[in-house]
Amino acid sequence: MTEKVTIIGSGPAGWTAAIYAARAELKPLVYEGAETEENRLKGTLPLGQLSLTTEVENFPGFPAGDMTAYLDSSIAEQKRRYMAPHHKQGVSGPELMELMRQQATNFGARVVTDEIVDVDLSQRPFTLKTLSGTTFQSESIILATGARANYLGLPSEELYKNRGVSACAVCDGALPRFRNRPVVVVGGGDSAMEEANFLTKFASVVYIVHRRDSFRASRIMADRALNNHKIQVKWNSAIDEVLGDEKNGVTGVRIRSTTNPEQTEVLEATGYFAAIGHTPNTEFLRGQVRTNEKGYIVWTTGHRTYTSVEGVFAAGDVADDYFRQAITAAGTGCMAALDCERWLASQGIE
Ligand code: NAP
Repeated sequence: MTEKVTIIGSGPAGWTAAIYAARAELKPLVYEGAETEENRLKGTLPLGQLSLTTEVENFPGFPAGDMTAYLDSSIAEQKRRYMAPHHKQGVSGPELMELMRQQATNFGARVVTDEIVDVDLSQRPFTLKTLSGTTFQSESIILATGARANYLGLPSEELYKNRGVSACAVCDGALPRFRNRPVVVVGGGDSAMEEANFLTKFASVVYIVHRRDSFRASRIMADRALNNHKIQVKWNSAIDEVLGDEKNGVTGVRIRSTTNPEQTEVLEATGYFAAIGHTPNTEFLRGQVRTNEKGYIVWTTGHRTYTSVEGVFAAGDVADDYFRQAITAAGTGCMAALDCERWLASQGIE
């Protein structure tokens, strides 16, 4: 049997595409990814990057705070009675993803916990291969594989991965090795601020090592970090080496001044968290879909999610190196499903 539409990826883009495609009666097949150790280390487990975060404060519809009290006090009674009781305090990233996943399956999306490792896009229907060894065909594909966190590429980072080196404070921050000990976060964007603030729950001090003298992060996130008494910023500094030993894993980092390269300093720390941007997950496409200079999939038509291969659509962070927000990913997931539905109809596939 040839699938009508296969959605690859399980972040907000993938699930929103699945909700729309399922409601259009396309019976989408969602490959949500595989729960392998390699994916855990890379940060590419099912449910995407939001599953590696804590509170989501900016997804419309989920204000932080006591929602029941808000609804009770602010909504007219005749409207309020059409609303379910709501006891949540905003929403967390993993919770938002589980809710989207459930919403997609409610409408009939089929979900497979496996990874697409190879595709042949040279002829339609397209051929897809999975990690578990199956091969199948699909008339159309929505690519929603997202992006993953970068590391600096130092051999010492690789050496101590899982032994103090991480790119996900939310996944690893509560481990005993980080409790009441100093840790280091490298980067100056929103991710670095978020990671550093989160780590102050556990660590004695969090050093943010940033290569310039100002943050790239949004004002609100930067201020939150700068006002946190447990956070110390090492401005104009780069990580020279992650220090450690066989027995203890990470024991510190050596940083080097970016303005005076002669100047180095050793920071004692049991953890090193990389927060220096992202790489789109496109390797399995083997260059068959056009990408930009950073490797992100290019939309070939304005305001459409078409890619360079007819019948293949892209949504979310895999095609967005600029906004990279949950809400924009969800929005483009919706667009991809609608583009795909209309394209399938134009091919006489309903
Ligand atoms: P980003 O904004 O691209 O920031 C990456 C940071 O890492 C920059 O400060 C950059 O330094 C630094 N960096 C990059 N390569 C480096 C290297 N080789 N050595 C040292 N430093 C390096 O990435 P991000 O923080 O992951 O954020 C990505 C997007 O997600 C943004 O749009 C952000 O707003 C969004 N986001 C939002 C939230 C939220 O709203 N809660 C949370 C996380 C992320 P320079 O500044 O010098 O270039």
